[in-house]
Amino acid sequence: MSDNALFYLTGGNMPLVSHAEGIYLWDTEGRRYIDGCSGAITCNVGHNHPAVKQAMIDQLDWVAFSYRTQFESQVALDLANRLVDLSAGDLEKVFFVGSGSEAVESAMKLACQYFVAQGQPERSRFVSLSPSYHGSTLGALGLTGYEPLEAPYRQITLGSIKVPSPDLYRHEEDSVEAHITAVLEETEAAILEAGPETIAAIALEPVGGASTGGRMVTQEYMEGLRSLCDRYGCLLIMDEVLTGMGRTGTWFAYQHFGIAPDILALAKGLGSGYYPVAAMMAREELVDVVNSSGGFMHGHTYAGNPLACATGLAVIKVIDTEQLLGNAVEMGTYLRSHLDQLAEKYSCIGDVRGLGLLQGVELVQDKTSKTPFPAEFNAFEKLTRLARERGLLIYPRRSLNGIKGDHVLITPPLTVTASDIDDIIALLDQSLDAFEQ
Ligand code: PMP
Repeated sequence: MSDNALFYLTGGNMPLVSHAEGIYLWDTEGRRYIDGCSGAITCNVGHNHPAVKQAMIDQLDWVAFSYRTQFESQVALDLANRLVDLSAGDLEKVFFVGSGSEAVESAMKLACQYFVAQGQPERSRFVSLSPSYHGSTLGALGLTGYEPLEAPYRQITLGSIKVPSPDLYRHEEDSVEAHITAVLEETEAAILEAGPETIAAIALEPVGGASTGGRMVTQEYMEGLRSLCDRYGCLLIMDEVLTGMGRTGTWFAYQHFGIAPDILALAKGLGSGYYPVAAMMAREELVDVVNSSGGFMHGHTYAGNPLACATGLAVIKVIDTEQLLGNAVEMGTYLRSHLDQLAEKYSCIGDVRGLGLLQGVELVQDKTSKTPFPAEFNAFEKLTRLARERGLLIYPRRSLNGIKGDHVLITPPLTVTASDIDDIIALLDQSLDAFEQ
């Protein structure tokens, strides 16, 4: 019998974690790693933060769990109100869940229930981008634009209408503007072909994460999607599971683009690794319609429990008091300038992209032709391993590679300093050097 009863696809022997502090983790052999990716782009306020820990302990002294159909809690109300403030009132209602996938599925279910309540039950299909990542549970997986992840379960996933994700690095049109126009036209054509009256919502990640390695969109694209939704009467769902909570330098990434979604999914950075707390935020009008027709028929046992909400509130307070949004902008610019320098030095770096402290590096076999490495070469895995051997964690260990090129994400905690970034860059430089040997 194996002495390892864990059932994860980790691809090999992982070190045993011992402890963590700030931007560092240690394994049980005493090796130190710089967390250059905040775990899974999650630990936005860094590890072992005294204020978050204390807030959690304080909450534990009062009550850890109370069930939402039996009690409300002040911390849940406070966290919900705080999140609405952070959206500057764009989204006025908050529903707590426990993970990113649940937040995405809550968004999908709210959209469906909204249209059912309005006598439009046929509006039940979703448009999403390819590539994209929206989660691992069946509904969220159906939105996810990466075929191999969905393939084994196709009989039981919902499947969405896939439209191309803008690719500002590798596109066929003469200019970015022409590319965005072409992508928007293709998106509109897909909506028209499916029948606009069948579409509940368009869902997207405002800046690509695991799926596309920091792929950016433009203001015109965001405005274009918003107006497609308005024209055809469907909703806009922003998946900010990874980009939310200051990662890109604003509380939510959509705030860079001067438009607002109807529903937003938030997770990772809200609990910052301390507790699985996630949320679906929505415009009040949607919630009013759903509430007036029996209420949102959805919920999870742990959703919005006091400990989860106390954690989320403490994380937000740290981001506020330590001015981490400003730091994400400043350090994001600093990180980016160093990554751009590495891109000049190494022929395997085809593109550097992203926003704030969400920076992606695309690895290519040939820089001029932008030819990706063959999928079986596993370039992302090789670089991630070389970095880990040198004490630097970058994301992902296992990526949605093979789409068109490999990428890695450099997404340190928002608490990162310039000298931390110098250390990250030095280790990445050594790893890239070894990669090209
Ligand atoms: N959406 C996005 C954009 C994500 O990056 C992720 C997680 N990588 C998810 C949804 C799913 O979140 P979770 O793993 O917490 O279910």
